[in-house]
Amino acid sequence: MKSQGIAVLGATGSIGTSTLDVVARHPERFHVVALTGHSQIERLAEQCLRFRPRYAVTGTPEDAAALRARLQGRADTTEVLAGPAALEEVASLPEVDVVMAAIVGAAGLRPTLAAARAGKRILLANKEALVMAGPLFTETVRAGGATLLPVDSEHNAIFQSLPADYAGSLEASGIDSLILTASGGPFRNTSRAALHGVTPEDACRHPNWSMGRKISVDSATLMNKGLEVIEASWLFSVPARQIEVVVHPQSVIHSMVRYRDGSVIAQLGSPDMRTPIAHALAWPQRITAGVAPLDFHALSGLTFEKPDLDRFPCLRLAFEALEAGGDAPAVLNAANEVAVAAFLEGRIGFMRIPELVASSLAGLDLAASTSLEALLEKDAQARRHTERQLAA
Ligand code: NDP
Ligand code: MG
Repeated sequence: MKSQGIAVLGATGSIGTSTLDVVARHPERFHVVALTGHSQIERLAEQCLRFRPRYAVTGTPEDAAALRARLQGRADTTEVLAGPAALEEVASLPEVDVVMAAIVGAAGLRPTLAAARAGKRILLANKEALVMAGPLFTETVRAGGATLLPVDSEHNAIFQSLPADYAGSLEASGIDSLILTASGGPFRNTSRAALHGVTPEDACRHPNWSMGRKISVDSATLMNKGLEVIEASWLFSVPARQIEVVVHPQSVIHSMVRYRDGSVIAQLGSPDMRTPIAHALAWPQRITAGVAPLDFHALSGLTFEKPDLDRFPCLRLAFEALEAGGDAPAVLNAANEVAVAAFLEGRIGFMRIPELVASSLAGLDLAASTSLEALLEKDAQARRHTERQLAA
């Protein structure tokens, strides 16, 4: 089999690091063409020294100069580029077969669209890109002849539980609904009153998964599950009413598909992102991922609960945004990114996050943008709106 060239967008993050861990186990199968980072230049330098990519991308020219200095005489074959245009460039290089989209937030949209236009095999971790631009994103993938494979563990589990010939219609495949499981996050048993006082450190202490800070807060508010409901809707062409959310604190069942005849098909595994990453990297084949086998005898049980939309209004807001359609998901996402950043900086309390998101959804025009530029302007408007509410 020909070695596949891979570009890892967001290589220095949690998903990026796990991706490189899996890739390193299969040197005959993959070679790294490009790595990108943003603030962690030392980590990017170490990755360049180890994986010898043809290109590395930083956020600013200053960081690029620092990285070049660090690599000089040690990895001279790596060309260092900087800025958003360079991200799009490396995502569409002819020598790149596979693009891991693992930048966090809306910043990942343009490079992921570039990969779609160039017909790449896209491994999608960056759910925010799909949430904010669902119709445009899926149309670009179709027109570019790209292959979109879900890395998010729930969507990867659903992908594995759907019939192999699933062609975008639940009805035609005899499916009633998709069931997304949620761990419930670190505050599953925290009272509403106590939620007002939780800190960023509490929120980032996830019981089962080790992740970047933004998605950790999203998991704590259940906005992550809300974004995943919207992500599932676009990935699998499913309306909101056919997506269920079940809290499953052990994170062993990663999601399920409910069939018409009463069958429910699930994918199980240890809570380790290297499993869905390896699945998407090798699909339709299977490769080792370095993950310890699931030990059923060590499990104390598998339990299920209903999500509490009163303590976690973000999940309800996401369902409503999906139902509303148009730019509502983009506004929800932008407001959430600003609110989460403010919470992580200690500027607002935890329960202000859903209030700010609701305020943006109520205060902005949600009619569908008809171009990428209009959509990005709506994203910017929602950010400004949320910032103003923060300052008020
Ligand atoms: P991290 O914060 O750990 O990593 C984010 C990556 O994006 C880093 O490489 C970071 O660079 C880079 N980055 C941040 N801002 C910018 C920017 N403005 N321009 C370019 N690059 C940028 O996040 P995760 O790895 O946890 O998550 C990545 C994506 O995957 C998110 O969309 C998340 O929702 C999704 N995801 C994550 C899961 C997980 O288990 N972690 C599970 C499922 C989905 P640097 O670090 O150098 O600043
Ligand atoms: Mg997930």
